[in-house]
Amino acid sequence: MPSIRNVVIIGSGPAGLTAAIYTARANLEPLILEGEPSSTSDQPGGQLMLTTEVENFPGFPEGVMGPDLMANFRQQALRFGAEAKLEKVTRVDFSERPFKIWVGDPEAAEPTYLAHSVIVSTGARSLMLDLPNEHALIGHGVSTCATCDGFFFRGHEIAVVGGGDSAVEEATFLTKFADKVVLIHRRDELRASKIMQDRALNNPKIEMRWNSKVVEIKGDTKLDGIVVEDTVTGERADLEVSGLFVAIGHQPNTDLFVGQLDMEDNGYLITGSGERVTATNVEGVFACGDVQDHTYRQAITAAGSGCSAAIDAERWLEANVHS
Ligand code: NAP
Repeated sequence: MPSIRNVVIIGSGPAGLTAAIYTARANLEPLILEGEPSSTSDQPGGQLMLTTEVENFPGFPEGVMGPDLMANFRQQALRFGAEAKLEKVTRVDFSERPFKIWVGDPEAAEPTYLAHSVIVSTGARSLMLDLPNEHALIGHGVSTCATCDGFFFRGHEIAVVGGGDSAVEEATFLTKFADKVVLIHRRDELRASKIMQDRALNNPKIEMRWNSKVVEIKGDTKLDGIVVEDTVTGERADLEVSGLFVAIGHQPNTDLFVGQLDMEDNGYLITGSGERVTATNVEGVFACGDVQDHTYRQAITAAGSGCSAAIDAERWLEANVHS
């Protein structure tokens, strides 16, 4: 059996890496299981890896690129002795201590890691429209990441779906590359913050399509266009776009914890058991960041809760394992 780690942190966004900085500085030698590189938002570094400029993270008056910010978080954690592995957890067993964690074959008899305490910071991932072709055409015209893929649409006409901050921010960013960006929203009013709305609505390259939904994604090997339906009149129209950016929100990455950790109906983990704000229903397992927060969902709040989880874990270890 592997040796027992003090703290294993599952996930490497702002929450997980902040928890790593704090637990490393408490000499707990945390292991961060970062996840595997992928094209979706459940990837190492989390959602900020798919973001452009972050203007609201305190300490960066000129703004900072999301991937650069995450590289700094990671470097800071490693500096204090955290260990980071690009591995994706496939199974956990929190039914007894030490906790068991598998990467690779989930059926393997022996777990890959044992831990006195676990900090869950697996974040949330992009929701999709669930239309035929959508997944097959990811990377071939369909994208959930303007930062990653915007460059490929220089001079093109493209569409963005959604009405929140993500959609409006992506549409605005994509005007750096595309000649025209159609922002398709299912209602007649945006959900995005006022300042971002103003930026988009005053951008001459952005055309709004209110009360509209995408009903068809066309193309076999690459996106050839989409069909949009007016939700009021039912009228359908072809849009000849070569790019479709889906920005309709997120889902927490909690499949691993079904049956083990308490969660809300929408899949977000429930925290705040007892006096520790990041405690889950399993003593010694803590959760922080977007995986347990559908209200604020900001990098700074995720980082703050990562700090809380580290302090909660440290105190719990002190009282229950190292005393
Ligand atoms: P969101 O706020 O949940 O917005 C999702 C949008 O997609 C909504 O407008 C929703 O429409 C629409 N939508 C949902 N399901 C849909 C479907 N099946 N078909 C078509 N449209 C659909 O998600 P978000 O924009 O990803 O933002 C998440 C959080 O991150 C928010 O708190 C946001 O403020 C924050 N954020 C901040 C920044 C920033 O400050 N720089 C950038 C990005 C995100 P309805 O409006 O009709 O519900």
